[in-house]
Amino acid sequence: MRDPYEVLGVSKSASKDEIKKQYRKLAKKYHPDLNPDDEKASEKFEEASLAYEILSDDKKRNQYDRYREAAFTNGGGGFSHDFSGGFGDIFGDIFGDIFGTGFSSQSTRRAKRPIKGDDIQKIIKISFHEAAFGTKKEVQVRREVECHVCEGKGSEDPSKVHTCDKCNGSGVINEVSHTAFGTMSRTVTCDKCGGSGEIIEEPCENCHGSGKEFKNETIEVTVPSGVENNNVIRVSGKGHVGENGGPYGDLYLVLNVADHEIFKRNGLDIYYEMPISFTTAALGGEIEVPTLKETVKFDIPKGTQTGTKFTLKGEGIEDGRNKRKGNLDFYVKILTPTKLTKEEKEALEAYAKVSGKKVKEEKSFFDKVKDFFD
Ligand SMILES: [Zn+2]
Ligand SMILES: [Zn+2]
Repeated sequence: MRDPYEVLGVSKSASKDEIKKQYRKLAKKYHPDLNPDDEKASEKFEEASLAYEILSDDKKRNQYDRYREAAFTNGGGGFSHDFSGGFGDIFGDIFGDIFGTGFSSQSTRRAKRPIKGDDIQKIIKISFHEAAFGTKKEVQVRREVECHVCEGKGSEDPSKVHTCDKCNGSGVINEVSHTAFGTMSRTVTCDKCGGSGEIIEEPCENCHGSGKEFKNETIEVTVPSGVENNNVIRVSGKGHVGENGGPYGDLYLVLNVADHEIFKRNGLDIYYEMPISFTTAALGGEIEVPTLKETVKFDIPKGTQTGTKFTLKGEGIEDGRNKRKGNLDFYVKILTPTKLTKEEKEALEAYAKVSGKKVKEEKSFFDKVKDFFD
């Protein structure tokens, strides 16, 4: 499926009126009644109708916009943000209501036209680290493929496959009925060949003439670094086999990224809370902080308050698709000791005595409280 905005030739921010106007223009131009026997026009008409169905409905348009941003392509030639390769039926799988109102009932649907196979959608679970650094995953898929015995022909002996004599291979016949209003003609699927346009004398034993069989396959998928929860990877051509020589559908993998115990994510940035002792906070000192790859030394300045944010530039996640790098932020959390030895207690009491009521922050805090009561 092409980008519906592109199909209708409207911008992403197009108003409903613009979309309607543009659809009417295209529908007039490509309507099958005005372009009999023109497959191209018929396809264009269907494509425009589908695009209009999505963009004219606020809910569907929203879903499309959201999904479009999350998805990217996992083709043979690396990754890209190119969506023109199509979405296939992923919406149908995820948001059944979008494609649920089928176009198959339209008179434009004709038998024997190559139809792309159905897409397959799977959820794959990956860890926080796998998402951060990228990984390879093996995915088990059960897909319908061309029968390996007859190579999709339906019979091992091609001479036993004949063109259907009732529909002359078109797969459809005209049904004429006489009514009070005159003669009505409509196109229906050929009952003799079931729409295939072929009569098979000796069907293939493996597929019973369907030309298709199910196969369990292990597909290796490269997950680029920097992916996020609900990102979608498209593996083109790894869906189900098409009809009438149409291309294979695609495989869509929706990523389910697990949380990490310490690290949290905000896009490519990572952050966490770093506990430090109250003496390090007061006096300053070197601490060890974890990054995604290792532990590094970091100088905490004296007088650091709890909640202070420190940033390690470029130590976040790198997006394998565009090489952008995030930062690592940690927020200081000052720990108050709960168990003190005798010496520690005495030292702290000595400190309290020396500093007395001169703790600046405390003083200003109570001044403010006093102001409030005055
Ligand atoms: Zn077969
Ligand atoms: Zn037929």
